[in-house]
Amino acid sequence: MMQTNEHDTGTDHNGTVHSSTVHSSTVHRDTFYVDGRWVRSHSTQQVVVTNPATEGSLALVTLGDVTDVEAAVDAARLAAPGWARTPVSERAALLRAIAAELTARHEEIAQLETAEVGSPIGLSRRAHAGSPIYFFTSAADLIEQSEPDETILGATVLREPYGVVGAITPWNCPLHQSAAKIAPALAAGNTVVYKPSEVTPLGAYALTEAIDAAGLPPGVFNMVMGDGAAVGARIAGHPDVDLVSFTGSTRAGIQVATAAAATVKKVSLELGGKSPAVILPDAVLQPALEQALRSGFLNSGQTCMALTRILVDRTRLAEAEAVVREAVAAFVVGDPTDPHTDYGPLVSKAQQEHVEAYIRQGQQEGLRLLTGGPDRPAALSRGYYLPLTVFSDVPPHSALVTEEIFGPVLVIQAYDTVQDAVDLANRTPYGLCAGVWGATRSEAVEVARQLQAGQVFVNGAGFNPDVPFGGYKRSGIGREHGRYGLEEFQQVKGLVFADDGA
Ligand code: NAD
Repeated sequence: MMQTNEHDTGTDHNGTVHSSTVHSSTVHRDTFYVDGRWVRSHSTQQVVVTNPATEGSLALVTLGDVTDVEAAVDAARLAAPGWARTPVSERAALLRAIAAELTARHEEIAQLETAEVGSPIGLSRRAHAGSPIYFFTSAADLIEQSEPDETILGATVLREPYGVVGAITPWNCPLHQSAAKIAPALAAGNTVVYKPSEVTPLGAYALTEAIDAAGLPPGVFNMVMGDGAAVGARIAGHPDVDLVSFTGSTRAGIQVATAAAATVKKVSLELGGKSPAVILPDAVLQPALEQALRSGFLNSGQTCMALTRILVDRTRLAEAEAVVREAVAAFVVGDPTDPHTDYGPLVSKAQQEHVEAYIRQGQQEGLRLLTGGPDRPAALSRGYYLPLTVFSDVPPHSALVTEEIFGPVLVIQAYDTVQDAVDLANRTPYGLCAGVWGATRSEAVEVARQLQAGQVFVNGAGFNPDVPFGGYKRSGIGREHGRYGLEEFQQVKGLVFADDGA
């Protein structure tokens, strides 16, 4: 439900309302989707959603509280047996109806996500608005194409839903990550309680409207807007939530797993990354570096899979630095609604300040700044922008090498041997993705096999939404996308038969 806000309020960096800058024409969203209806929040806590490119307010959103979670979980629990028994063909048809609703609203959703995330419009069309259509369609296909019950030595193995799934998602690719959970969870016969990020809530409303319009039975899908500390934590710890699927920071993922532990529910975690781009000594340097830079800076560095550490042979370091300087100078940072823009602002003032502090820390550590720096580009007078920044020859113990920054800040690390490259690549607590470039595919694959990462892009390969995605080490537990992503939401039951001839 959209309303005109009569208040005259504003927000601090975290979005909490406290002062007086919200225009009276600002959209106000104060309802959630529970049991097939739009219901009003029990809380009065509000956040202002800001356009990070213009710093203007987009909407005022009322957050939920634990009472709203209770209602959503109750509805999902009540709907679970019926949805689990709904024939696969009917579930698949409803998922395709959601995809059709999203297709009809594709451009509107792309514009909305550019406004609230700050992503360039091309990326919004592809990832924010396009991926969800793919995930709902492919979940329908996958569940219909699922293998029949398996037989093991005369016993039957069934795949069943868990029951109620809690889906908690971040702000950086809000609808991509939401659909990657909601679509397979529903396809597998689970009901869902969805808590999107309170930083970018507007796309989540569009997604929820599309699901509502598709006509799922009441209670099968529920959405409660809210913060992590209250709403997210309650979903994770709720005894009637059977599985919690979380995407976000490793810090919050640990809190989710801790809250979930008391009820022994299944926990899937898609967490942070600090992924290496390993450019082997004989690889063709220029295209490899340009591909690595595009990955690292994608969405202004705000992607979990970003290749943020570029590893090059020390004998080619100077050559690599020249290529990087030239390539970065050619990228366009600016208005994300302009199709010629490569990179927009960071999502919020808080994120801009967080990333800026890392750049200053790099300077204080005496790291060699190849390009960029901590100040907003001079040509941009407003917006949460930072320049594309690269430090070179950064030692492995630097925080800029070991910590996820989640902004447009990359490091170049020099290696002496291929074994040294592999060791450096694996020397962080994370293990989400990696890239390897070699003179031949087999040379690159030989190194890819040694990398501690859930997905490796070989010789410049791009993202493939059907290939399992997820983390080694502190980048997570479980996998999303494709068949593996569907199986994450299915538990197996063995039926063992007595030898009674019946
Ligand atoms: P975040 O961890 O701050 O928040 C993610 C979500 O969790 C939000 O909805 C938030 O409200 C909620 N949350 C926060 N604390 C919680 C708690 N204690 N209990 C329950 N819920 C809680 O992350 P963010 O800043 O929104 O997103 C950026 C992070 O997400 C980065 O670390 C990035 O690497 C990670 N990420 C990972 C993947 C992946 O697939 N591995 C994808 C995208 C983003």
